[in-house]
Amino acid sequence: MATHLTPEEAKAIRKRWEENGKPECKHTHIAREYMYGAHSDYVCTSCGEMQFYREAFNNTD
Ligand SMILES: [Zn+2]
Repeated sequence: MATHLTPEEAKAIRKRWEENGKPECKHTHIAREYMYGAHSDYVCTSCGEMQFYREAFNNTD
């Protein structure tokens, strides 16, 4: 299932995660961020972290 987020939605997710005390996140749900219809970055839907490559989420420990 493909999930698309706008930059504003990604920012809201990150803000909520920070307000929750930045719990440890394994980045298991990755969405693609779209800006003006073009793919830009990958975003973790749990913590809002952004990476240019999807694979980068596996190397953030
Ligand atoms: Zn995450």
